[in-house]
Amino acid sequence: MEIAPVKGTHDVVGQEAAEARYIEMVLSSVAELYGYREIIPPTLEYTDVFARGTGSSSDVVRKEMYTFLDKNGRSVTLRPEFTAGVARAVVSGKLYATSEAPIKLYYHGPAFRYERPQLGRYRQFSQFGVECLGSDAAEVDAETILLAMQAFQMLGFKDLHLKVNTIGDAKTREGYRAALKAYFGAHIDEMCDDCHERLRLNPMRILDCKVEADRKIAANAPKIEGYLSAESEKRYYRTLSLLNDFGIGYEKDEALVRGLDYYSEIVFEIHAKGPSGADYGALGGGGHYDGLIEQFGGPKMAGVGFAVGLERIQSLMKEEKLLEEVPSGIDLYVMPVGEGALEEAFRLTEAVRLLGYSAETPFAALKMGSLFKKAEKRGAKFALILGDDEISKGVAQLKNLKTKEQKEIKLDDLEATLDEAFGEEGHAE
Ligand code: AMP
Repeated sequence: MEIAPVKGTHDVVGQEAAEARYIEMVLSSVAELYGYREIIPPTLEYTDVFARGTGSSSDVVRKEMYTFLDKNGRSVTLRPEFTAGVARAVVSGKLYATSEAPIKLYYHGPAFRYERPQLGRYRQFSQFGVECLGSDAAEVDAETILLAMQAFQMLGFKDLHLKVNTIGDAKTREGYRAALKAYFGAHIDEMCDDCHERLRLNPMRILDCKVEADRKIAANAPKIEGYLSAESEKRYYRTLSLLNDFGIGYEKDEALVRGLDYYSEIVFEIHAKGPSGADYGALGGGGHYDGLIEQFGGPKMAGVGFAVGLERIQSLMKEEKLLEEVPSGIDLYVMPVGEGALEEAFRLTEAVRLLGYSAETPFAALKMGSLFKKAEKRGAKFALILGDDEISKGVAQLKNLKTKEQKEIKLDDLEATLDEAFGEEGHAE
C-alpha cells in the first residue's frame, strides 16, 4: 500500500529545493549585513516555552500546536514559531551575560502548525527570521523593518506593501482592552464562536477576525490611537519618521494586531500580490516585544524581530519569474563514446570533481543522441566527450551545451581549460 505524506506536508525535490536554499542564502546574507549571527535552535521544545512565550491566548497555542507526551510523560511541542524558542535559548545559554548587547540572531528552519491546509498555508512550513534583543531604542525597531524590506528587495521584489500599527505599551493595552471589552461585549451575540473566546482571553484579537460580519462590527470599534500612552505614541512616531527618512512607504492599519501574545509597541506585516492576483496572505511580519526574556527567567530585555514564510515567498517569486536564474544542474557531463572509453570517462569524471566542478557520467555505452539527452536532463553546462581517438591522443572534446561551441582540449591542461571555460560561464557552487 502506498503511504502518502502527512496532510499539509510536502517533499521538496531538485530544482525546488535549490530555489528554497537560494532564498535562505539571500536572506541569511542580508541578516549578516546587519550584523546578525545564526542560531539553530531545536525543533522540539517543552510545551511551556510556547504556552508562556508565544502566549496562551494566541490561536497558535490554543488550537494549532503539535503537542505530545514523550516517553517519560513530559509535554513537548514541535515549534510553531521561533521567537519563543530563541528567547528560551538566550536565557538557557545566558547569552545576555556573555554577548555584547544587542544580541542579534537570525534563524531558518521548519515550523509546524495544525491549520487547515490551503494556498500558502501548510502544517509544516519554513520560516526565516531575526531577533534583536537588548536595546529599547526606536531606531532598532526601524532598523529591523529596514532589514526586512532590504531582504525582499534583494530577492527581487519590487511591489511590496508594508502595514504598520502600534499596540502600545502594557498601560495602553490595559485601557484599550477595557474599551474593546465594553464595545464588543455589546455585540458579542452577533459574533462567531471564536470571538466569544477572544473576548474572554484578549479582545484585541477580535480585530484580527476574518469572518465578514465580525469585521464589519470591528470596523466601528474604538481605535487604539485614543488610548496610546504618551511614551508609546512618541516611540511609534519616531520609528515612522525614521522609515520616512529612508524612503520606506507604509500604510497604517489599526486592525493589525498580529497573532502572538508577546508583542507590544510597533507591529508590522509585509504583503505582496503576484501577477495572478493569488492571495498567499502575509509574506512576513513581526514587531517589538518587551517581557519575553523575563518570562523565561532572564533579565528585563526589549526585543524586536520578524519572521517570513519561505514557501509563500517561493510561490510568489515563481510567479514573478524571480527564480529563473537559480542554477540546479551540473557543470559537466562526461560522455564516453563506445565501450572502450567507459573506464577512462569514469576516471576523468572523478578528476573533474576533484578540481571543484560537479560532473556525472553514465556507466554504460550509449548512443550520442541519448548522451546529449541525458546531459540536458541533468542541466549540464558543458559536455566532455571522450572516444578511443581522444584517449590515444590524451585529449577530449569540450562542448558548451548552450552555445554549441566545441573545441579539443588537452587533458594535461584540464584545470586551466575548465577554469577558463567556466570563468566565462560561471559554475554551480
Ligand atoms: P507568524 O509567526 O504567524 O507571524 O508567521 C510569519 C510568517 O510565516 C507568515 O507571514 C507566513 O508567511 C508564514 N506562515 C505562518 N503560518 C504558515 C503556514 N501555516 N503555512 C505557511 N506559511 C505560514
